[in-house]
Amino acid sequence: MSQLRLPKRPDLQGESPYGAPQLEVPIRLNVNENPYPPSPQVLESMENSLREALQNLNRYPDRDFLQLRQALSRYLATESKVEIDPENIWAANGSNEVILQILQAFAGPGRVVASFSPTYSMYPEYARDTFSTFVTGQRKPDFSIDLAEVKRVLATHRPSVILLASPNNPTGTALQKAELEEILQLTRNTGPQQEAENGELLPTCTLVVVDEAYGEFRREDTPSALQLLKNYPHLVVCRTLSKAFGAAGLRLGYLAASTEIIEQIRLIRLPYHLSALTQAAACGALAQSAEQMRQVQQIRSDRDKIVAQLQERGFQSVPSDANFVFFGTFTDRHRIWQGLLERGVLIREVGPDGWLRASVGTPAENTAFLQALKEVSGK
Ligand SMILES: *Cc1c(COP(=O)(O)O)cnc(C)c1O
Repeated sequence: MSQLRLPKRPDLQGESPYGAPQLEVPIRLNVNENPYPPSPQVLESMENSLREALQNLNRYPDRDFLQLRQALSRYLATESKVEIDPENIWAANGSNEVILQILQAFAGPGRVVASFSPTYSMYPEYARDTFSTFVTGQRKPDFSIDLAEVKRVLATHRPSVILLASPNNPTGTALQKAELEEILQLTRNTGPQQEAENGELLPTCTLVVVDEAYGEFRREDTPSALQLLKNYPHLVVCRTLSKAFGAAGLRLGYLAASTEIIEQIRLIRLPYHLSALTQAAACGALAQSAEQMRQVQQIRSDRDKIVAQLQERGFQSVPSDANFVFFGTFTDRHRIWQGLLERGVLIREVGPDGWLRASVGTPAENTAFLQALKEVSGK
């Protein structure tokens, strides 16, 4: 064994696996989970679909998961008031896999994937795993997107994909419709040059991926990018059942986009990537979405109360469109994080120095968090 050397990828040297610490703590507000387990109605609906799917477990699952795409289409029509055909929907094991597949299909060696910091820390990993180059521009001090920075990144790097989380993680801020439309206009021919059949070099567009993992928690006046899909064939909107649906354990993410984009993704997907049980459980959950949306409403109003409390106490906290709050600033944020942990409250030390992120929990958990914060920070 001592002579044996594994042929490890040199670019993975020194890397560590991604993941927030999974600690056994009474109050876990660190990974933006929904604090409520599925309701009895949702559970019963999922159990019924699963029982049926189990009877056909000797067969490979539906590769194109038509039933699930129909259920997602119906759900989006209710949630966002946007009609999206099932053929314009694609799903995979969490939006993590959905975004990875987008990069497998549209990025790769010699190509650039761009994003704007601070943002979701998984994006550079998807780029690394698809052998793409990752570049970032900076957001403004209020964490909104800086269009001058977007132009600079597009002109300098000609990215094939840009990733925009909206509502953004960890800041909770969302893109405005006018900003997104401007980005969609700017990206019509900023992608890599590609050789046409006659040998001419032609510019492609940059794919604009809006990651709406927290879309359902957006405030009343914040639009969803889904509204713009009809006019922009280079727009992709990702969603997930992990956050609003309280089904992080299910691993189901999806996207809405033009059929041309979906056809390209179908080329790289594994033949049966979405298990029959995942498909069935997701259909069961979606059948009870009205119930689930009532909970989302509760979380949104609790979130607004926490942001108001934090601001009242003199913290900085940007208004959030997500199910978490981002607040600061602390000269030693690790001390605050540690002090909360000692009081049984786990939050996340993430984003720019001095800031912390806490997920919205149940009302009792939120009270405990705010109380512990008072003890540790003195305000
Ligand atoms: C939580 C999160 C996801 C989620 O991923 P799943 O794989 O669907 O659980 C995607 N994007 C962002 C920005 C997130 O915070």
